[in-house]
Amino acid sequence: MTDGRRLAYLEALGVDVYVRRGLARAPVEMPVQEAHPAVPAAPAAVAGAVPEASLDWEPLRAMVSACTRCSLHETRTQTVFGVGNPSAKWMFIGEAPGADEDRQGEPFVGRAGQLLTSMLKAMGFAREDVYIANVLKCRPPGNRDPKPEEALRCRGYLDRQIELVAPSLIVAVGRIAAQNLLATDTALARLRGKVHTLGPRGWPLIVTYHPAYLLRSPGEKRKAWQDLLFARQVFARIESGERVVP
Ligand code: SF4
Repeated sequence: MTDGRRLAYLEALGVDVYVRRGLARAPVEMPVQEAHPAVPAAPAAVAGAVPEASLDWEPLRAMVSACTRCSLHETRTQTVFGVGNPSAKWMFIGEAPGADEDRQGEPFVGRAGQLLTSMLKAMGFAREDVYIANVLKCRPPGNRDPKPEEALRCRGYLDRQIELVAPSLIVAVGRIAAQNLLATDTALARLRGKVHTLGPRGWPLIVTYHPAYLLRSPGEKRKAWQDLLFARQVFARIESGERVVP
């Protein structure tokens, strides 16, 4: 991608001269921090016993679309399984479908989804290059936060998606996704800028803001861009064979 096109996407992101100067000189301002050793194993990741734990993509998709494990099946238009490259090196995980996603059956397609797409393009990716999924596969009514029991009942599906994609790096998009995935109530601000580990396989995971939050708080977009630069840096270290987590 040319610098001009990237800058156009950065402008959509609301990233201004700070980043232009950063791109021209020192690309990453955020220091790489030590891996986060104290993250408890996510409840999901106890998944070996759930029936979906050994399924391939199509049976897994079929199981999700017929799922009635929690009451969200009563109000959904359809399940929202996930989209993108099934062998992607990058996986982005949000919290749950919203109204647009419920209608279209695809994650991150509304205004927030368009901003996520711009964020990906600013990093040099098309949506098809990465895999995008949510913690919940059905829309919570009124876009309320997922309930813990809903996230728990749905988690085996996401864990299996992660196993099938086997990404080099996971990006948790937003506070709810990050807290669910990492089984913590730590504030998002304190989760950013670190490499966390997810589940018994120790998938490297970093955290950034949800694009819906960035639409409400455009002043935070620059921090989101810092997160993505940090993610790129971590990814490069992973690809070079460096161990980024304990
Ligand atoms: S949210 Fe998950 S667990 Fe609940 S009905 Fe939908 S697919 Fe099943």
